[in-house]
Amino acid sequence: MALIVQKYGGSSVADVEKIKNVARRVVESAGGNQLVVVVSAMGKATDGLVNLATRISNSPDPREMDMLLATGEQITIALLAMALHGLGFKARSFTGPQVGMRTDTAHTKARITRINAERARAALEAGEIVVVAGFQGLSEVDEITTLGRGGSDLTAVALAAALKADVCEIYTDVDGVYTADPNIVPDARKLPRIAYDEMLEMASLGAKVLQARSVEFAKKYGVPVHVRSTFKPVPGTLVTREERDMEEVVVTGVTHDWSQAKISILRVPDRPGIAAQVFGAIAETNIVVDMIVQNISRDGYTDMSFTLPRSDYGRAVGALQDIGRKVGAQGVVHDERVAKVSIVGVGMRSHSGVASQMFAALAREGINIQMISTSEIAVSCVIEDKYAELAVRALHDTFALGREREATV
Ligand code: ADP
Ligand code: ASP
Ligand code: MG
Repeated sequence: MALIVQKYGGSSVADVEKIKNVARRVVESAGGNQLVVVVSAMGKATDGLVNLATRISNSPDPREMDMLLATGEQITIALLAMALHGLGFKARSFTGPQVGMRTDTAHTKARITRINAERARAALEAGEIVVVAGFQGLSEVDEITTLGRGGSDLTAVALAAALKADVCEIYTDVDGVYTADPNIVPDARKLPRIAYDEMLEMASLGAKVLQARSVEFAKKYGVPVHVRSTFKPVPGTLVTREERDMEEVVVTGVTHDWSQAKISILRVPDRPGIAAQVFGAIAETNIVVDMIVQNISRDGYTDMSFTLPRSDYGRAVGALQDIGRKVGAQGVVHDERVAKVSIVGVGMRSHSGVASQMFAALAREGINIQMISTSEIAVSCVIEDKYAELAVRALHDTFALGREREATV
């Protein structure tokens, strides 16, 4: 008997018919196995809740935001449990707090601190299908928290680790992880396997098929993750430990993130402690900055630029007006609409010249690069957001990631 954790995302449970379809998929895998099923809010329900909040307040209180957002998933678990009952199966729904998901107190982006999985274990032992609300938990001071957008993936992976599940299956509207977002690049190719590190980079750099923190968790606890389709019974993509042959492929995937913004602080005095002051002020607002570039110093002054999620842009600009004055900066300029395109692959560790090929491909399309950053297995460029799709397709072609490659190997 295997213990399987399955997660169904918003588009898989978008309406009543889809919930019934998920119930049928769940019972197909039930035969003799123990099942934990994590679900997201129906369709775009979470976006709808965010929208309601912003119509009431420009800066909703984070605690109340979590109180609101956690309601989305609670609807789905009850409906799915009812649908499973209708098929003659024993099932019981649990909210995040009920299933022992404990987190820190960082509302709207809480981290899991521990899981008391006794209740889930007892229900499984009693032969019940355990239906869990994704994306939510209970903080150490007993407040309802949420785990960041896309956080149901994390709920599933964390439960799989806590229960020592045999596999964590992520069911979604695509049938696996592709060389690029298949909704943008029509000839993107499905990857049969991908290494945790590559998946983590791709997720962090914008491939929202898995939440980045869920991949980090899966890697840390060695949880095998299988990304697959809710609607088509075909094998998907296995996210696993790195295997030797993976290094032979230089670029595995191309990602884009067009929900970025860029802020530059002009002519700040070039002396020790200034960067710490600037980024300390940003960190205090719980905003995670991404790329940071500091220019060469001229006459004792320098410029600093960084990127951040567009959703945090307003708050960051606010925080910087104050700090800019304090450190004696000449001014702050911002661009609310930039995109980041990236290439990712563990093979980059042992191959050179990849970055320059990327820059040449963007140049051929006349796309100007505003910022560059590299890691061991990724190269990213910040560009004007209207060129993001064009850039992704050009890079996908340049590194021959399309379907035809399979035919020529
Ligand atoms: P769910 O609601 O099931 O959690 P998401 O919308 O969060 O689903 O993630 C699935 C989406 O991720 C796909 O519809 C696809 O557009 C997008 N995506 C982005 N990059 C990739 C990629 N490299 N491979 C597969 N899907 C990707
Ligand atoms: N419903 C949440 C969101 O839309 C969590 C998830 O779907 O994973 O972000
Ligand atoms: Mg998702």
